[in-house]
Amino acid sequence: MRSDPADYELVAPGSLQAVVSLLATQPGEWLPIAGGTDIMVQYAAGKLVARKLVSLWNLPELRRFEVFPGELSIGAGCTYTDLREHEVVAREFPLLVSAARWTGGIANQNRGTLGGNIVNASPAADSLPALLVYEAELALVSAGGERRVRYVDFHSGYKTTLLAPGELIRAVCLARRFRGYFSYARKVGARSAQAIAKVAMAGLGRMAGGVVEDVRIAVGSVAPVPLRLRETERSVRGQVNDAALVSHAREAAAREIRPIDDIRSKAAYRSAVVGNLVAEFLYRLRGDQGSPQSAVLVRWNQLPADEAAQELQACCGSSAWARELALRRPFPTEAPLRVASDEIWSHLGTEDWMEAFSKHPRIGERKSPAAASAQSRAWSAEEQRDAAAAGRRSSGPCGKPIKNTKQGLAGCLSYVLPGNRPRKSWRFSAGACGMTT
Ligand SMILES: Cc1cc2nc3c(=O)[nH]c(=O)nc-3n(C[C@H](O)[C@H](O)[C@H](O)COP(=O)(O)OP(=O)(O)OC[C@H]3O[C@@H](n4cnc5c(N)ncnc54)[C@H](O)[C@@H]3O)c2cc1C
Repeated sequence: MRSDPADYELVAPGSLQAVVSLLATQPGEWLPIAGGTDIMVQYAAGKLVARKLVSLWNLPELRRFEVFPGELSIGAGCTYTDLREHEVVAREFPLLVSAARWTGGIANQNRGTLGGNIVNASPAADSLPALLVYEAELALVSAGGERRVRYVDFHSGYKTTLLAPGELIRAVCLARRFRGYFSYARKVGARSAQAIAKVAMAGLGRMAGGVVEDVRIAVGSVAPVPLRLRETERSVRGQVNDAALVSHAREAAAREIRPIDDIRSKAAYRSAVVGNLVAEFLYRLRGDQGSPQSAVLVRWNQLPADEAAQELQACCGSSAWARELALRRPFPTEAPLRVASDEIWSHLGTEDWMEAFSKHPRIGERKSPAAASAQSRAWSAEEQRDAAAAGRRSSGPCGKPIKNTKQGLAGCLSYVLPGNRPRKSWRFSAGACGMTT
């Protein structure tokens, strides 16, 4: 049964101080509401028990990023869109950007907040594995003052937390010490958008001389709370990253979790998927220390972000893709760049894909769309519609059909990266494909 708005009261005191005072003077009476994307679902279903709501939406104290030399403090009221667009988050905490990108749809990302995701405490929540591997701390505030807790201790059980009555999350604090780590994020759901995760994983790792120097793995949707796979990490750290280790880690991870059967998935499936994701993570981590840095990559890593994005965009037409990839620099080698690229592509929206398609030459063409004949433009439009529907098919660099994003990027990077082609020749190649006109 739907709720009746007349039964509810909503106040918006407008400052953090006023909100915590209200919570202190009338304990247990008021439920904080931030973006409302979880609370309004309960409201719409007639299941919202609280009748008095106090708004945290857009409180300036909760909706800001504070960048210190050793720490990034993210206001609990920052939305997923805020996270996606923040340069330091994109560069140093890409796992949070991935989670933000695949949380709900655009409307949800404009409204849902990081603090709401943490307090709602769903084991399937997307940002939580990232917070575990980054070893986040939470700044909790009440009328009595502020305290810090380790995020890993925050969830005391299924949907229960350490939050005391009258207390709010003010900020999520992240130590800035993961630059240069290889990041891996995957969400496995019924589809790639608007789906609750069957399994979500965040991984961070660093290799030295073929050995796993450091590794952090966290998974969601496989236990009552998001889990850090400490035993698997311990058994992998300090070991040579070879096929035997990957196979061992796959089994260790599947053993360490405690999944359940529910409407979204079976426990056995979840165990198998977690094992496979851990194996894929280690496999990609191994590639991370592969080839030495190319001179072109070194130079590209050092360009200002706008210029770096522009260089990519001359070849691959999505500005969102180019911007995000540029923000994730520096890339030590080509392998993590390819992984990041693929990951960004897989979460871009239809408009971004259409932008990319519209800037590529069409199959069989060697000139830019602008210079194409009317008939060719009509065929191209048709081809683009089909390509968009098929998801990942269009013409790649030099008008050759591409099968997937990896292949598309590979074509693009073959001009940019091998280090060996001077910039002029890459520009020429891009131009010959009609991509720089
Ligand atoms: C269509 C749809 C799709 C969704 N898809 C996803 C998805 O893919 N992945 C995912 O993880 N989630 C998803 N969600 C869930 C939801 O969007 C997120 O959990 C979101 O982050 C909640 O934030 P909010 O600000 O809207 O929380 P609200 O609904 O405002 O609040 C949620 C809870 O947090 C408490 N709260 C909020 N802020 C604070 C604070 N600063 N301090 C203390 N308590 C606080 C509230 O009291 C409430 O108990 C989806 C929801 C919808 C409706």
